[in-house]
Amino acid sequence: MSHDTTIDRRLLLVIADGVRPDVLEDAMNAGRAPTLAALRERGSYGPVTSSFPSVTGPAYVPFLMGQHPARMGLPGLRWYDRARSLRWSPAQARSYAGIDIWHVDHDVSREVPTLLEYAQPSLSAMSMLARGATHGRIGRSIGWMLRAAPSHFRGNLLGWRDVERKATAAFLRQFGRVRPRASILAITSPDKFAHKFGPYSEPVRAAIADVDAAVAQARAIAARGGWLESLHVWVTGDHGHAPVTQHDDLHRWLESEGLKVLAHPRLNVKNPDVALMVGGNAMAHLYFQPAERTRRWWTTHSAQWERLLTRLLERPSIDLLAVGQSLRVVEVRHQQRGVAEVERHDTARGVRWSYRPLEGDPLGLGGPLHHLDACTAWEVTSDSAYPDSLVQLSWLASAPRSGDVLVSATDGWDLRARFEPVPHVSTHGALLRDQMLVPLLIDVPAVRTPQRTADIVPSALDLLSITAETQFDGRSFLR
Ligand SMILES: [Zn+2]
Repeated sequence: MSHDTTIDRRLLLVIADGVRPDVLEDAMNAGRAPTLAALRERGSYGPVTSSFPSVTGPAYVPFLMGQHPARMGLPGLRWYDRARSLRWSPAQARSYAGIDIWHVDHDVSREVPTLLEYAQPSLSAMSMLARGATHGRIGRSIGWMLRAAPSHFRGNLLGWRDVERKATAAFLRQFGRVRPRASILAITSPDKFAHKFGPYSEPVRAAIADVDAAVAQARAIAARGGWLESLHVWVTGDHGHAPVTQHDDLHRWLESEGLKVLAHPRLNVKNPDVALMVGGNAMAHLYFQPAERTRRWWTTHSAQWERLLTRLLERPSIDLLAVGQSLRVVEVRHQQRGVAEVERHDTARGVRWSYRPLEGDPLGLGGPLHHLDACTAWEVTSDSAYPDSLVQLSWLASAPRSGDVLVSATDGWDLRARFEPVPHVSTHGALLRDQMLVPLLIDVPAVRTPQRTADIVPSALDLLSITAETQFDGRSFLR
């Protein structure tokens, strides 16, 4: 009689928040992350794409739900709710950079279970999204928030790392007791250090050593308990990082255009003309006439806004504008490279995407593309300046909670110049390659090349032999 070892399998998913794939690879090659390097020997390592916007919060949705965040109700780090459904938010404006972080679990759709709901018992620590964890959401209680908040809001990075180490220690104690089938441990100090000192800096390397140490301790705990054989550890990230030297104050610029602007932290604005929601700071949503309770498609907006977009696109900080033309069509504009449309088609065999240059080739894809499935749409964009651009722009631009216009910043720029707790030299949020690529380390051989962080959930369910009803945006790399 053979013993089915898949029944016993457990997965620890570690999030190295804001770690670039090249930086993690260097750390493994240089012997600074020996535990991770040993896991790589058994499986594989490489870059995959995150979701757009490439920012903490929304970018946790793909590896916890297998879906694009905007489809699950989380279009950005900051977003505006035309539907007026946000309780305790008079301005109907979310910012997960502040205490709204408490609302993430409630803001995402309940229609799709999380990995922590599919695979139980489950446990999480410091994860932006942790719905369904049966044995603790460490770092999310009021006590942890009070410990973390002074460091977070004053930009005290060593204080933050200290809180995070305590949360990791609490996670590991619970991990040994519960032996969770699925667990998620996020380590966010690399992102904070990268913003302040740069993505290649020594503090980021030190924070990667924290990630390696946490994985080593988890494995040691499982070894002592006699369940190391059943423990799998995968490591990924939520967004990349790219140096930034110039900060465009879009808020002030819109005001200089004579508009009343609703933007964080100035939320007490009567009858705003536009809501500006920036975040990660290299992207923004623009909502015109925010008093209207449902979004309209661009063709029905007034010519006033079209003239504004022309001036916006002339700004050196602006790389791409994406304008929702209908539920299926998004128009993409670049100042020099021109205009194209991305269209989504629902077919009997699944969703397909087409790219139609109207005048020029803003996404740099070489010409028109027709009816590509999700895998092919990823492949044809993977070497471009905007990896996975077709699928990402398509889902984000059509979501009910998204802005009428999406803005992605030029390399070296971001879009918020005031009200930041820590002066920063590195940024993310844009559709650009350095900000969209994240590492993926798996400790089992892959059957096909992992493409997106959304592939992680269906793959994890395969690893754990769990059957799911969900139609995932991602696809398992284990079959
Ligand atoms: Zn960040």
